[in-house]
Amino acid sequence: MTTHQTAYRALPPTAAAVDPGPEAEDFRHEFRAWLSEHAPPELRGVGWPAPPGSPHTEALRDWGKVLCDAGYMCVSWPREYGGRGLSPVEVAIMNEEFDRAGVPRVTRGRAETTVGPAVIAHGTEEQKAYFLPRIISGEHVYCQGFSEPGAGSDLAGLRTSGVVEGDELVITGQKVWTSGYYESTMMFCLVRTDPDAPKHAGISYVLLPVAENGPGTGVEFRPIRQLTGRSGFAETFLDGARVPLFNVIGGLHQGWRVTVTTLGHERGNRATIAHVAYARDFWALVEEVRARGLAGDPAVREKLAWAWTQIETMRFSGLHLLAALAAGQDPTTRAENGSVTKIRWSEYARGFGELALDLLGPEALTAGGAGEDGLGYWQEQFLSSRSGTIWGGTAEVQRNIIAERVLGLPKESRGMGR
Ligand SMILES: Cc1cc2nc3c(=O)[nH]c(=O)nc-3n(C[C@H](O)[C@H](O)[C@H](O)COP(=O)(O)OP(=O)(O)OC[C@H]3O[C@@H](n4cnc5c(N)ncnc54)[C@H](O)[C@@H]3O)c2cc1C
Repeated sequence: MTTHQTAYRALPPTAAAVDPGPEAEDFRHEFRAWLSEHAPPELRGVGWPAPPGSPHTEALRDWGKVLCDAGYMCVSWPREYGGRGLSPVEVAIMNEEFDRAGVPRVTRGRAETTVGPAVIAHGTEEQKAYFLPRIISGEHVYCQGFSEPGAGSDLAGLRTSGVVEGDELVITGQKVWTSGYYESTMMFCLVRTDPDAPKHAGISYVLLPVAENGPGTGVEFRPIRQLTGRSGFAETFLDGARVPLFNVIGGLHQGWRVTVTTLGHERGNRATIAHVAYARDFWALVEEVRARGLAGDPAVREKLAWAWTQIETMRFSGLHLLAALAAGQDPTTRAENGSVTKIRWSEYARGFGELALDLLGPEALTAGGAGEDGLGYWQEQFLSSRSGTIWGGTAEVQRNIIAERVLGLPKESRGMGR
């Protein structure tokens, strides 16, 4: 089977269709020149983020350091907080240039796109000075401790407790589905600090150190084995974990508004780039189809045309957002855009995963692929695509948000958390 890497194909530029203005074009030329000099050839076609155990982990870490040293990390953060102050249009241009060069844009992941913006919006100057540089350098790698066994969609129903003792918070409870726990040194988590307040009012947003974990430390990760055979996430048991009150962002009991900022960024930040990776996979699948002599089959062509239509729709929608951004508006974090975007890409990914297995036939169903877990690229894609309509707020919950906040339909009878 052809691998994802060998099937890589550069995409046509997208932001070019929106006039980004002369400054953004200057930035494109400057960044393109820098990239052509520094892009590591050994990372050509390699995806980001790397799955656990990837042979590229070390090279990706080094590449992240090069980007960091050159000031190309957390680029959308303001300069005063260590970012580059790039506009969303410039960030889109940067993504295009990475794609054009065929090397991954290593980022600080959710720390960069969700925790950092929440700290910038709600933290004190002292908190910004402490936490933000550690995100940029990669010293603080965050996992997310929001969901609990009884609180997923109804996030505000969470029960993990935080009790103030002196200048510390003592945290006890259980989190679940903690993605990326294995590489994390910090967890941004929600805890109930005022059990008597209405459920959205008694929550605090805490940055909890988790580098030291295991029995006796107050933080214990118990990995969960997934469909793919990997353990990308864990249950997290917190038993008297201590954290300075300094690590509470936005004030004690005031965590819900910080959470809303975080969730807005979590859903909205793929809006202008989601199509890029999908287009890459699409062309890889087309190559597989050609190699198997299936390209003339009308049923196959019809399915490929469906997939391409979806990708183009995502691209046009990204351009629409970019045009708004270029005009100085920022609609990406608005609930309706976040929810529409999330439904579109997550449902497409599931459909495409099924399509790939369909087209590749029985071979795609048997183990024995090149992946570390014995799965092939397309099997892995298919299995992991199932989760996109769940994490970050399920598709059903997103539809409720659209029904209520966009269409103005009556509210459902029970509260919606996410
Ligand atoms: C791959 C993956 C990674 C994840 N990573 C993390 C992580 O790092 N950190 C973290 O905190 N969480 C993480 N999650 C958890 C994720 O956010 C939750 O699974 C999600 O919010 C749904 O919650 P739940 O699983 O408790 O399901 P429930 O909320 O129990 O929902 C069960 C079903 O009921 C439906 N439902 C619930 N409420 C409503 C409603 N009001 N209207 C209509 N339908 C409804 C849902 O759509 C779903 O189909 C991850 C999940 C996945 C799959």
